[in-house]
Amino acid sequence: MRNEATFQQKTLFLHFYFLKPFLTQKKGKNMIVTILGSGTSQGVPVIGCTCPVCRSKDPRDKRLRTSILIQTDEVTVAVDAGPDFRQQMLRENVTKLDAVLISHEHKDHIGGLDDLRPYIFMQQKPMTLYVADTALPEIKREYSYAFEANPYPGAPTFDIRRLDETPFDLGDLHIIPIKLKHFTLTCYAFRIGNFAYVTDLSEISDEAIEKLQGVEYLIVEALQKKKHYSHLTLDEAIEISRRVGAKKTWFTHCSHSMGLAAEVNRELPEGMMLAYDGLKIEINNGL
Ligand SMILES: [Zn+2]
Ligand SMILES: [Zn+2]
Ligand SMILES: [Zn+2]
Repeated sequence: MRNEATFQQKTLFLHFYFLKPFLTQKKGKNMIVTILGSGTSQGVPVIGCTCPVCRSKDPRDKRLRTSILIQTDEVTVAVDAGPDFRQQMLRENVTKLDAVLISHEHKDHIGGLDDLRPYIFMQQKPMTLYVADTALPEIKREYSYAFEANPYPGAPTFDIRRLDETPFDLGDLHIIPIKLKHFTLTCYAFRIGNFAYVTDLSEISDEAIEKLQGVEYLIVEALQKKKHYSHLTLDEAIEISRRVGAKKTWFTHCSHSMGLAAEVNRELPEGMMLAYDGLKIEINNGL
């Protein structure tokens, strides 16, 4: 009996020391990233356009406004809430939402903030928004009714947290915001472990590239092939992916002038493809 107990104790000891680290490592360390939308500010198809991309029957050529959803065991977080937010959340059947990270103040990234109300009502608390000082005035102007001293009943309520380059934790996520230049505006990319989401930029600093080093899964914007004043071209986005050393890259915020997804994907280097709405990327380890 005595020996048996000792053996059990030893086994427990071994379990504790050798298995526990793996178990705790696994818990909350797997992350699903869903492409809620992969289109530029007008979406694809563009209203009234009869180009081959806008008339394409391929579902990968139907692009809602750019946004992603990040889900772990502990938290569900959206990056941006654009004009298609309601449709995106219904499509993905998202039953809870803990926070929204706002990359910048352009309408295609904040146009859906009023549609956070179902989550605010269901969860019975204001929605946490991470917003940079540069973006907040526009949000306050756009949604002035939510910021009044005595808001109308039913108005959305927001818990505004300041977003700058300081890393922060959200549940089991450790988020590193990275400052980007988006023509005259400031925009933020977000790195979480070996994953990064980088959209709405016209150029990238060496400092930002440095902060992105080691990212294995990269979503980066690529508007089109032709040069643009406030967005990256496909070649510029490929270049960023190479500089960072990403193993897998998806291009988002695409315009109809990018071309048909099937054709562009054939031309892309190994490990790179255009993102499409509804795509789910499972990210393991490294968080
Ligand atoms: Zn078109
Ligand atoms: Zn923008
Ligand atoms: Zn945009």
